[in-house]
Amino acid sequence: DVKVGVLALQGDVTEHITAFREALTERPGSSVVPVRKAADLAGLDALAIPGGESTTISRLIEKNGLYEALREFEGGVFATCAGMVLVAERVDDPRVRPLGLIPMRVERNAFGRQVDSREAMLEVKGLEEPFRAVFIRAPVATEAGRGVEVLARIPEGIVAVRHDRHMAFAFHPELGGDLRLHRMFLEVLGV
Ligand code: GLN
Repeated sequence: DVKVGVLALQGDVTEHITAFREALTERPGSSVVPVRKAADLAGLDALAIPGGESTTISRLIEKNGLYEALREFEGGVFATCAGMVLVAERVDDPRVRPLGLIPMRVERNAFGRQVDSREAMLEVKGLEEPFRAVFIRAPVATEAGRGVEVLARIPEGIVAVRHDRHMAFAFHPELGGDLRLHRMFLEVLGV
């Protein structure tokens, strides 16, 4: 049985809970729970950090005393969009205090104002067929450090990475019902 938490401070929390519940339907005894305080992290195999507004989530992480606990979290992290901003080591916006879980540099809202949302059929390393990626005011990674495996990139930059037990996506695998990346994550985590 696998226990997954979803950081439930702001953003598309429900979508992450639904997607992980579905990805775990064939694993009896598994559970997906919201995380709002440090004690909620106990016993989790994995944590999803949702899309939303990274400056707001960063502020709420501080307010709820979660910063150190998240940095020390021993499970795998599945981060999407704003979550990708939060797990980076360096962020172009000083209002975000990054968790530094993945050694990469991330730029917020990297697509420009005019076309800030789009869909793309994306080749992702490890998937046989392309993934329909939904980008919503998405970030990109502009630099990836040692040990970071780039899983997908587009002309603007890197949009999917794996580092050790963590994965981060600039798009939203929790939307759209395609759970191949959730399954890849659980497989890499070995749970
Ligand atoms: N633009 C948002 C941010 O950087 C991320 C958007 C999203 O999560 N869909 O906070």
